[in-house]
Amino acid sequence: MDAVDLQHVPVVDNHCHGILRSQSFDTLLSWRRNFTESADPGMPREHVASTAFYLRLIRALAGFLDCEPDEETVLAARAEKDARELVGALLWAANIETLLLDTGYPPPEKVLPGVELARLGDCRVEPMLRLETLMERLIAEHDSLEEAKEALVVALDDVRGQGYAALKSIAAYRTGLNIRGWSREEAEASFDEFQEAVREGSARLSHKPLLDTLLHAALAEAARQEVPVQFHVGYGDTDTDLLLGDPLHLRVVLEKPEYRGMPVVLLHGCYPYTRKGGYLAAVYENVYLDLSYGIPLLGFAEMLSFTREALGVAPISKLLYSSDGIGMPELHWMGATDGRRVLSQALEELVAHGELSISEAEAAGEEVLRRNALRLYRLSSG
Ligand SMILES: [Zn+2]
Repeated sequence: MDAVDLQHVPVVDNHCHGILRSQSFDTLLSWRRNFTESADPGMPREHVASTAFYLRLIRALAGFLDCEPDEETVLAARAEKDARELVGALLWAANIETLLLDTGYPPPEKVLPGVELARLGDCRVEPMLRLETLMERLIAEHDSLEEAKEALVVALDDVRGQGYAALKSIAAYRTGLNIRGWSREEAEASFDEFQEAVREGSARLSHKPLLDTLLHAALAEAARQEVPVQFHVGYGDTDTDLLLGDPLHLRVVLEKPEYRGMPVVLLHGCYPYTRKGGYLAAVYENVYLDLSYGIPLLGFAEMLSFTREALGVAPISKLLYSSDGIGMPELHWMGATDGRRVLSQALEELVAHGELSISEAEAAGEEVLRRNALRLYRLSSG
């Protein structure tokens, strides 16, 4: 059978994060720690290096740096490179057309500015606005829930005009995707509790009635402006309760007729809930499913498996490529190379089953890797 060739298709990475200015890691553990979602100290020491993901990363890097594929040699070869040289070489090799950057994390002072990434990678960079970070700032600046809510609506009055391609919510990390309505009394009590926590030194918004209430105000603005909202779904840091990160919890938001103008992007393939995310993309006109290949940190076969699940239920027009790369340029790079390989293989299976011709499969690959995102985020191509 002929191969589906996507090797030369540039990617629009519809969800990733900044790359650290400093690419030097003092110890082996401080490097390995980047490749686990676990906070348990024994994980980087004993186990991270034996994941399929990490083994693949080291082999891929050995190929890129032209050295022996063992961890020590690869890290020594990597350490010889200047940070900007390394970032530029990897981004360039990834053949990136556009990066959509969640500027909420890592903090801006730690990462290379967007303009510099664009120059190093010869690509475009489009920022996205993380809602919870904005909310935390506005709550700290106002004395009442009403004032904070008004300030939020003003801040989101013209999202694209301010240069943002999309909004992003990490409610799944904080209080769960079961975003619902609350009485005024409940929301105000929650506001007071958060203010109290801020005075005690914790500025982390994890107060559900308050966060849900402000999210509804933000979603109404997104719907009015037809701006896409990305939701973190499924797999993530240890502070996520994976049960509450199940995309089926979004039903209240998805069923609201007044939000139908708002495209909803379910991030990370909703892994391990990919079938559920694919199902939602198949039944709700405004739901899209992001397939990310840098993070979750998975073996190749597992990436192939979630891609099959997505292609098996969701329309191809609803699928979007991303790396979710963060911190190290390796993730943005390997996400793109793996994403193309996995997608080619999964699409070849559709050809084998008589669902697509080879040329249709190649066109479908290009839709997922770039065209769907260009349309959805209203980006110009090239
Ligand atoms: Zn992310």
